[in-house]
Amino acid sequence: MQVYADNAATTKISQAALQAMMPAFETYYGNPSSLHSVGQEAKEVLENARERMAACIGCEPREIYFTSGGSEADNQAILSAARLGEKKGKKHIISTAFEHHAVLHVLQKLEKEGFEVTYLDVKTNHNITAQDVKNAIRPETCLVTVMYANNEIGSILPISEIGAVCKEAGILFHTDAVQAAGHLAIDVKKQNIDMLSLSAHKFHGPKGVGVLYCRRGIALTNVIDGGAQERGKRAGTENLPAICGMVAALEESLAHLEENTKKVTALRDKLISGLSRIPHCALNGDPKNRLSGNVSFCFEGIEGESLLLLLDMKGVQASSGSACTSGSLDPSHVLLAIGRVHDVAHGSLRLSLSEYNTEEEIDHILTVVPEVVAYLRSISPVWRDLQTGKRTYIL
Ligand SMILES: *Cc1c(COP(=O)(O)O)cnc(C)c1O
Repeated sequence: MQVYADNAATTKISQAALQAMMPAFETYYGNPSSLHSVGQEAKEVLENARERMAACIGCEPREIYFTSGGSEADNQAILSAARLGEKKGKKHIISTAFEHHAVLHVLQKLEKEGFEVTYLDVKTNHNITAQDVKNAIRPETCLVTVMYANNEIGSILPISEIGAVCKEAGILFHTDAVQAAGHLAIDVKKQNIDMLSLSAHKFHGPKGVGVLYCRRGIALTNVIDGGAQERGKRAGTENLPAICGMVAALEESLAHLEENTKKVTALRDKLISGLSRIPHCALNGDPKNRLSGNVSFCFEGIEGESLLLLLDMKGVQASSGSACTSGSLDPSHVLLAIGRVHDVAHGSLRLSLSEYNTEEEIDHILTVVPEVVAYLRSISPVWRDLQTGKRTYIL
């Protein structure tokens, strides 16, 4: 049995998305900037996609900017807000310690330029509160950038409450909603979100395409200069097939949001309760406000990388921390941020489910993971030291 349980890294494209892409390759292949009829037909398809995307998140079509994905949208949102803040002498940003690298690395760049960043602590409940944001606001704060849901540990952040706090304080609010889009309802106006990033390949759309929503009246700074596409704010010939696939995937996900959430939550809870029986383990992430597809554990005395490779041999594709961290020896910054010590953080496992997973697959995971953990512990010197009392258990 093959069980794909790495949907937070990327998802399989849906049939609806694939079908929606074909006409853009075969029929509407014109350049939307061309003045002739083939170009103008493509332009119409593009603007129709923009309207439908806007309807999915509750904004106006002209507030939608198509990008190459979540990373680009995060970069542009944060850099734009920073440039606007700078002009007013405001160089303080509020974020969290467990953001995606697409946010954190931009913030680190800005810190080198003299910006100050407050990284909110995420040790309590593996989450933050709107009050945490409120407490961190200073007169010179120009931006709050806080993710909607965490990609590694699944915590869902109180975005509506944070939006209200930012609105009251008159501070721009950006959210990296890459893990939320297609999985949680989004209404940028009701939630007082000024800027939002999303990415198609996390909700069964194609890779290499995403959206930056930017509220009307906020001046974007270009990250990619060139032609006048996307209201002059993002140059480059539009990836129309990918854009059509993304919109179809999001509409499909939203049309089935409730039933998918119900189904995936049941699978997740079965998996969490089964894996919790493994001795000396801990669940990562907010136990209550949690993505329906996220299961994240730390197992003491083992290496997550070995666990992954053995699981793959037994047909289960999972992840330990984030895909971007694999290949490096440092444990995930997210697990360190929630207070896991290095040794424990190294023994992490993330299983991320989608509506394509089945109960039989969950049963397979529940057979395989405890076996592999027990095997790895049986050959682990750290585990031997824990058992003989030379080391003390942390979990
Ligand atoms: C995947 C992901 C991104 C990056 O999106 P890409 O489209 O792959 O660039 C950013 N933020 C979060 C939370 C993600 O999960």
